[in-house]
Amino acid sequence: MVYEFEYRIIYVDMPCSIKAYMSEIDGFYNIFVNSRLNCEQNEFSIRHELEHIQQKDFYKEEPVDSIEKARHSKRLVFANCI
Ligand SMILES: [Zn+2]
Repeated sequence: MVYEFEYRIIYVDMPCSIKAYMSEIDGFYNIFVNSRLNCEQNEFSIRHELEHIQQKDFYKEEPVDSIEKARHSKRLVFANCI
């Protein structure tokens, strides 16, 4: 479970190729979401980043590619700009 006090969501104008990214400082997470993408995509992106937090992916020594492959295999991607 990820508690609301553990993260915040920040909408940022980014190129459409970037859906979202996250940073972690002392156990607090900033989730940066692309404000140019539609609500459906941002909902998926936020859930995706929350799953990284819940699975403690930041602390794994596993290669990033294999972590992302596992996370992305569970969802559809909508990347329409608005
Ligand atoms: Zn990811």
